[in-house]
Amino acid sequence: MKRDIIIIGGGIVGLCTAYYLQKSGKKVTVIDENSITDSTSFGNAGLLSAFDKTPLSYPGVVLNTLKLMLKGQSPAIIHPSFDLKVYRWLARFILSANEKRTKKTMMLFEKYGEISLQLYEKMISEDSLDFDYHRDGMLSVFTEEESYKQRLQKYNYVDEQRFKILNKDELLEYLPSATSKIKGAILFKKNAYFDSKRVMLELKNHLEKAGVEFILNEKINSIRVENNEVKHLVSSKNIYEAEHYVISTGYQTLLAQKCGRDLMMTPAKGYSITFEMEEKFKPKTSTIFNDLFVVMTPRRDNVRFTSKLEIGSSDAKVVKKQIESIKKNFFEYNLPFEMKNEIYWTGFRPLTPNDIPLIGRDDEIKNLTYGMGLGWLGMTFAPAIGTILTDLIVNDKKNAHSDDILLFSGFYQ
Ligand SMILES: Cc1cc2nc3c(=O)[nH]c(=O)nc-3n(C[C@H](O)[C@H](O)[C@H](O)COP(=O)(O)OP(=O)(O)OC[C@H]3O[C@@H](n4cnc5c(N)ncnc54)[C@H](O)[C@@H]3O)c2cc1C
Repeated sequence: MKRDIIIIGGGIVGLCTAYYLQKSGKKVTVIDENSITDSTSFGNAGLLSAFDKTPLSYPGVVLNTLKLMLKGQSPAIIHPSFDLKVYRWLARFILSANEKRTKKTMMLFEKYGEISLQLYEKMISEDSLDFDYHRDGMLSVFTEEESYKQRLQKYNYVDEQRFKILNKDELLEYLPSATSKIKGAILFKKNAYFDSKRVMLELKNHLEKAGVEFILNEKINSIRVENNEVKHLVSSKNIYEAEHYVISTGYQTLLAQKCGRDLMMTPAKGYSITFEMEEKFKPKTSTIFNDLFVVMTPRRDNVRFTSKLEIGSSDAKVVKKQIESIKKNFFEYNLPFEMKNEIYWTGFRPLTPNDIPLIGRDDEIKNLTYGMGLGWLGMTFAPAIGTILTDLIVNDKKNAHSDDILLFSGFYQ
């Protein structure tokens, strides 16, 4: 049986692409090697934080990371690796950390962030999806005097729609656990957050009801290409044929590699701790501890900490020392409170060196499209990516005819 479109990988990118393809009248199949209950798209912080967001590779990143390493607070770890690709990735990352690139990336973040937030809001209102979504802003908290000063210099004007510099009382209202060791905080008002796990489950459930086919717990092992066309996919159990194929396999690049694409991406391991806590200490909105790279996201039933960025490892094991270090960093600047029913999780960000995703049609294989490399902002941009890929596939457009691909695809930067 030949299907219309097969999407390999049911993370947020795969599901958002399925959502818009299905809406455009296509028959869609999603194949995933797991059960779509626990990928990177489930355990993340759920920040939709495209506004006033500096890319990971910003000017000064290397020096700042080294300083934090000396203080024992650095979230970044680079594991020694025999894989030369890791070092090529690092070199590209350092080259991207310049003023010009940062400015451009921040503008792209805003453009595609606004599109995505509006698309999420439309999903919620049109399809009654419950994402536990809040557009209440993101609180950026500074624990280092120097970085707070630097940030204040950038925001030494008034724009009430966009941001507010909080005084001590206002900080306590937003973050009741804050102590006087915190140097300052800025509320970036245009950002939003949601409960990622809820989003994934709601989307999957909606898609199933809308007729999208899910083939789960089946890994695609290879892709058969003949005459510049994908003929079929091979899993351990079956062969699957379709008119068009989308690869959205998160940090896993093997299938793209089999199609001749050496994607410049690396897995960046992160942790989350989900727990229940006393209501009186819960933050009022999503809160990022800028210098520590720790995020605290309030959710309907619990709260989630996320942190750490480990390059050069794809071992999903939860390392107790890392959990302790997240807590230690957080409680150094916050009042103690009890964390109940803690759930530990790890996942891998599909990180490109310049924070620009690897999306678009394959240049040679005519019925193959990529939705990869969403890095640390996949939840933020997935709906925009879903619409861009749907436009390419449904209207049979070449990359060159899509302004979005030319602007926001790492294949062309
Ligand atoms: C700690 C942490 C915090 C984060 N916080 C945020 C945040 O606040 N905001 C934000 O926007 N982003 C955040 N992110 C990033 C975000 O989670 C990712 O960018 C996003 O989830 C990536 O989605 P994806 O669909 O590309 O990949 P995934 O969610 O990894 O999905 C890929 C799917 O492909 C399947 N697959 C892979 N290979 C095969 C195969 N051969 N055959 C079949 N199936 C296959 C996998 O099973 C998986 O289900 C965070 C990430 C981490 C780790």
